[in-house]
Amino acid sequence: MQYVTRFAPSPTGPLHLGHAYSALIGHKMARAAGGQFLLRMEDTDLERSKPEWAAQIVEDLTWLGVDWDGEILSQAAQLSSYDSSLERLDALGLLYPCSCSRADIRAALAAPQEGVPHDVYPGTCKHRTMDSRKTGDALRLHLDNALDRLADREVSFVETGATHQGTHVINRERALREIGDVVLSRKGDEIVAYFLASALDDVAQGITHVVRGEDLFDFTAIQVILLTLLDLPVPTYHHHGLIRDENGKRLAKRDDARAIATYRDAGLTPQEVIALLPPF
Ligand code: GLU
Repeated sequence: MQYVTRFAPSPTGPLHLGHAYSALIGHKMARAAGGQFLLRMEDTDLERSKPEWAAQIVEDLTWLGVDWDGEILSQAAQLSSYDSSLERLDALGLLYPCSCSRADIRAALAAPQEGVPHDVYPGTCKHRTMDSRKTGDALRLHLDNALDRLADREVSFVETGATHQGTHVINRERALREIGDVVLSRKGDEIVAYFLASALDDVAQGITHVVRGEDLFDFTAIQVILLTLLDLPVPTYHHHGLIRDENGKRLAKRDDARAIATYRDAGLTPQEVIALLPPF
């Protein structure tokens, strides 16, 4: 099987050292395996994604010597391609509409609920059926029903990154406790959520190895659950270490000081920027 990986930035800010590191690792792994390296713009967030940022990412990657195979895929240009998967999950009875605002969710979580971590949806709209869906409702995955459906299948993935290396079997209790009923289609704009769109495009683009930062490791379980529900192949995952600032914080898009363009404008060469990164 040919090795195919991708770099999938969200064009909502400048490419910084952390992104460059991720792209360079994926690129190197693909080329070392004689495989393909693809570029995908994860621009489903229509408010925050900007064509200027996408253009800047292309320019920065090119400057760094990262080349990619084929056309750049833009998720925003193919939003309807995700509909059939949402329809399939609906037909399986695994979706429900949700009208909760962030404030509603916070208020529900403020009531003491033993064992419910704060970022897991408290289930306020869980009793609702799809025929009660109103314009502006989000769609959530009914995770208990989804896991019931998968009860006689092993839901697992292989991780090759150093920190979490091995085969990970998704555990029902842990998934319910730590993931919960995630939003698959956002309120109002009917736009598919990142982890569904990303997982579907990994399959659509024939990605055999997802190479990305460790900050995304926790999304893997839900992506694997969704792919398995949809009878789609699960790629191998490789989560690499992150570039942190001097306080140990992960670099964020806002961190313009470490934007590749800033180094370039300051007169550094691509080799000098690459030398700022840990060896890869
Ligand atoms: N678009 C995501 C980001 O920029 C990355 C998604 C992925 O690599 O799976 O954080």
